Amino acid sequence: MHGQNHLIGKLSAAAARAPEAPCVVRVGTGETLTRGAFWAGAERMAGAFAAAGVTPGDRVALQTEKSVEALQAIYGALMAGAAVLPLNPGFTDEETGYFLGDAEPAVFVCDPRRAEALGRIAAEEGVGLTMTLAADGTGALATAAAGAAFPGAAIRRADDLAALLYTSGTTGRSKGAMLTHGNLAVNAEALVEIWAIAEADALLHALPIFHTHGLFVATNTALLAGATMRLHAKFDAAAALADLPHATLMMGVPTFYTRLLDQPGLHAAAAGMRLFISGSAPLRAEDHEAWTAATGHAILERYGMTETGMLTSNPYEGARRAGTVGHPLPGVELLVADPSTGEALPDGETGSIEVRGPNVFRGYWRMPEKSAEAFRPSGFFVTGDLGRIDPDGYLSIVGRAKDLIISGGFNVYPKEVESVIDSVEGVAESAVIGVPHPDFGEAVTAVVVRLPGAAVDAAAILAETAARLARYKQPKAVFFADALPRNAMGKVQKNVLAKTHARAFARDA
Ligand code: AMP
Repeated sequence: MHGQNHLIGKLSAAAARAPEAPCVVRVGTGETLTRGAFWAGAERMAGAFAAAGVTPGDRVALQTEKSVEALQAIYGALMAGAAVLPLNPGFTDEETGYFLGDAEPAVFVCDPRRAEALGRIAAEEGVGLTMTLAADGTGALATAAAGAAFPGAAIRRADDLAALLYTSGTTGRSKGAMLTHGNLAVNAEALVEIWAIAEADALLHALPIFHTHGLFVATNTALLAGATMRLHAKFDAAAALADLPHATLMMGVPTFYTRLLDQPGLHAAAAGMRLFISGSAPLRAEDHEAWTAATGHAILERYGMTETGMLTSNPYEGARRAGTVGHPLPGVELLVADPSTGEALPDGETGSIEVRGPNVFRGYWRMPEKSAEAFRPSGFFVTGDLGRIDPDGYLSIVGRAKDLIISGGFNVYPKEVESVIDSVEGVAESAVIGVPHPDFGEAVTAVVVRLPGAAVDAAAILAETAARLARYKQPKAVFFADALPRNAMGKVQKNVLAKTHARAFARDA
């Protein structure tokens, strides 16, 4: 149907085969759109963007609530030839202004409730036009789409830009990762194959659509395979549980799984499911095991990132190992390398995870130095993650290179310390960070969340770490918190903790 447009041609092929087959269900109202109706809506959005002056090579920024229409707007912008820039609706006006100024989109789509303030900021940042789209699918963009003529999908090739995804960058300015039509298509094809996604699948879709997980991993694979998406506006554990009997497949962040574990009736609700997939943040081995005990299903954990799409996955057929992220996807070359040279290390050693393949992005938007720094001369991308490959090829993520703590000249991997702390009775979870220290450079510092009603204290934690870890890995201080700060994808924000405790060892503190 849209064969000249690399990504859209592939994603809409299932609709050309069977336009009357279901494509997306609005969970809540239960309304189902057929594949034909979904893509017809996207074509109308494309018509509206083209009428607004969007031409191939432009960017379209979208900061909308999650809805069927928001997805149609994203695919419509791609049909019009633009690269999409999805933005978290939780960003403040100031944060949004930075992205608009940096990406210079031709059109910015936002929620009508924020149109006045954001429209003004967009204009100041040089954006030609701000249009609105509300959570219920109404707004100026929808009105324009209703009357728009579709000129046909713009010609786009595999190496044309499809998306500018800003990384959650915890240090310095957020960077726009440039992903091409080919990057996205090849990754979706690999995932459909290895996870055996098929027309009979119904995907419980409760992830946000401003991030690669909900947008490209979930939506692209469902569209490509001709599966049905069951669209939840957001994740709510009770609503997800109620919808499980209608689904066969769920993709989630670890928090989805831990929250569902607290729901009564999980075993029966999950009985008909084919596959549960987790990623975007580490799934603790205990949670993996608790899920298997509660449902009889082993969660399939996979690993990827904004810049590369998905990189590794536990096997669909074969052992899904708790605490590991499995093997490289077809087409992905992956090394655990010496961080200083990029030379591959022997299996079993911890090092820098580096990757190459047709899924890897083509650099950071307007940041040539940052892009150059991120790649080895061999073309391998340095992910910033640290990992280890065990003898039968399963990769484990040991942490982020930038979270590595160097205390008194020794390297401390926070995850190793966290695992010991988490095993102490009464501990719900922990985060270990490095805090500036006058003697050690950085001091290992633990932030611990207690289980409800538990009275575990610092002495109990320090006794356990003293018994099981070398002295330099033992926390120099333990703080308690009600919860760990997490971002929308469930990642612990260690930068926030580092700021909170920055002066814990200051000489004048
Ligand atoms: P993002 O670009 O927001 O998708 O974040 C990517 C980062 O999330 C990766 O570089 C990893 O640090 C982390 N990540 C993703 N999946 C996993 C996983 N299964 N286990 C541990 N960390 C993960």
